[in-house]
Amino acid sequence: MELDPKIPGGPIDQKWDRYKFDLKLVNPANKRKFNILVVGSGLAGGAAAATLAELGYGVDCFCYQDSPRRAHSISAQGGINASKNYQNDGDSDYRLFYDTIKGGDYRSREANVYRLAQVSGNIIDQCVAQGVPFAREYGGLLANRSFGGAQVSRTFYARGQTGQQLLLGAYSALSRQIALGKVKMHTRTEMLDLVVKDGRARGIVVRDMVTGEVRSYAGDAVILATGGYSNVFYLSTNAKGCNVTAAYRAYKRGAAFANPCYTQIHPTCIPVTGEHQSKLTLMSESLRNDGRIWVPTDADDNRKPDAIPPEDRDYYLERRYPSFGNLVPRDVASRAAKLVCDEGRGVGDTGLGVYLDFESAIGRLGEDAIREKYGNLFHMYEKITAENPYQVPMRIYPALHYTMGGLWVDYNLESNIGGLFVLGEANFSDHGANRLGASALMQGLADGYFIAPATVGDFLAREGANNVGTESQGFKSAETEVNEKIKRLLNIKGERTADSFHRELGKIVWEHCGMGRNEAGLKKALEEIPKVRDEFWKNLKVLPTRNDQVNQTLEMAGRVADFLEFAEVMVTDALNRAESCGGHFREESQTEEGEALRDDENYAYVAAWEHAGVDDPPVLHKEPLTFEQVSLTQRSYK
Ligand SMILES: Cc1cc2nc3c(=O)[nH]c(=O)nc-3n(C[C@H](O)[C@H](O)[C@H](O)COP(=O)(O)OP(=O)(O)OC[C@H]3O[C@@H](n4cnc5c(N)ncnc54)[C@H](O)[C@@H]3O)c2cc1C
Repeated sequence: MELDPKIPGGPIDQKWDRYKFDLKLVNPANKRKFNILVVGSGLAGGAAAATLAELGYGVDCFCYQDSPRRAHSISAQGGINASKNYQNDGDSDYRLFYDTIKGGDYRSREANVYRLAQVSGNIIDQCVAQGVPFAREYGGLLANRSFGGAQVSRTFYARGQTGQQLLLGAYSALSRQIALGKVKMHTRTEMLDLVVKDGRARGIVVRDMVTGEVRSYAGDAVILATGGYSNVFYLSTNAKGCNVTAAYRAYKRGAAFANPCYTQIHPTCIPVTGEHQSKLTLMSESLRNDGRIWVPTDADDNRKPDAIPPEDRDYYLERRYPSFGNLVPRDVASRAAKLVCDEGRGVGDTGLGVYLDFESAIGRLGEDAIREKYGNLFHMYEKITAENPYQVPMRIYPALHYTMGGLWVDYNLESNIGGLFVLGEANFSDHGANRLGASALMQGLADGYFIAPATVGDFLAREGANNVGTESQGFKSAETEVNEKIKRLLNIKGERTADSFHRELGKIVWEHCGMGRNEAGLKKALEEIPKVRDEFWKNLKVLPTRNDQVNQTLEMAGRVADFLEFAEVMVTDALNRAESCGGHFREESQTEEGEALRDDENYAYVAAWEHAGVDDPPVLHKEPLTFEQVSLTQRSYK
């Protein structure tokens, strides 16, 4: 397998501009002759579909929800980064680049990350032009707040609903193109296979989730913008529908899967309360601008929080990391929360919780100011916990939230399969081993609005139209395989629901490949996962037993089947990477102070895995990471 990252030459701040100039263009009259398949209509896919259509290409866009407006991107709360330096507090493209590389624990490509910082300002301009109602200062300028891993304020936001507002912006651009007939939108349509011939992606096989019909679409290029795989852990802050199916099935057709073990655990989520839960709720990182995190100093202190005086509280992030305080990156904050809970100082019934306290911010700014900034988040917290966070501190605990791993892509965002582009959370590109808060929206929109529209055009200009149609053997045999898999799922007729297998898998991966990982645990997970998978294929119950109608249990079963295979790839990657970096914390590799200890000599590479069969271990390919701008140091937020 060839993994050429295609990083352009030249000074880092000129690479993208020079490269764009070198990219081939498609003449406006020829653009309409090409048709591009965009799977996913969240921020990354929606932005790409709208922009490509605006450029003149024909687009077919697919999503499994009943509207692009329901993509998981809608749930993004806190904000989106951009190096506009509106605050005049020392921000620049270089600083955003530097913070992101350091935040990712030096496991991402410099060139990609620099480009991300460079286009970040354009994203804000584009979204403002679409009417996204970003928060503004009194004088009318756009407001900013701070997010973890940065000492400047560069996060643009729309209260705690930034994703929703950005998605409405992308959706209006998409709707314009749907109305013009340039985008054909296929809702409630799930991609179940990728068709590849002679090393080029030719199209996809989908299932109509309403009628059950399996059919194919051919395209001149295929874009996957299908989101992340946090739900492999069962409990996560992601929407229940988020899954790995599109990416995993592309992987089975030859696309390399990069760094699957890089998963992000977010420090501020509402704690798990019991077995009944099927999902967890995020409390945005933006709350750490004003909320202070603490636990009682004494493990035996069972007083109510308001009865514990300041001298008996341990503001452990402020104590351990005085420079960044409560705004250390997520991986650092999550591990610190786990540590105090492991010491027996956690709060709440389960002991798996820490306080996020607004008492001093309310005292300083007043309740109205806090309501203005975070009102919907406080409301959501109160709805779920029946506690009023204006009066008592929130209780929070880390939970699975985001996945930095994804399909391998080069600088063009093209996978190792020609014409298969991967955008947004579905690719592995820019966040290394840990994503900084408010950087996912930035990356998804950079990919969709600015990068893919340039690089996909270059591909089409170089490679020309796809001449393999849906009547060809490749499409027909892929359709047959999809139908057979569906039949197999329907015919097991066992006793257990897909959800119960999913929950069982989630417990295994959370225990052995969650916040802390070690060799023995990872090996145990590799023994246990195939056993769950075996039972799944013998004892699965899918209801009702018809394929030609809406059948949510069948949809779920297909996704869980993929999680059951993918989990092994993720754990294999975690076992291979015997260093700690970012969110990947190998307990064997830590500093004396319990921080992640990298091993740059042996692991400064992207691990890209090639499928070798379900029962055979995947094959590792390495893309070495080279650093010319930053020197690799032990990350410190002290
Ligand atoms: C609670 C929460 C809050 C967050 N807050 C922030 C924040 O404040 N700032 C920030 O930067 N990031 C935030 N994030 C992360 C960010 O929201 C996501 O990383 C980002 O929105 C992902 O966008 P996407 O377009 O890549 O994928 P998604 O929005 O997940 O879209 C995926 C699309 O692919 C489609 N799809 C998937 N599989 C298939 C298939 N097989 N067939 C057809 N269609 C398919 C779906 O229908 C959907 O349209 C948050 C995440 C969560 C969970």
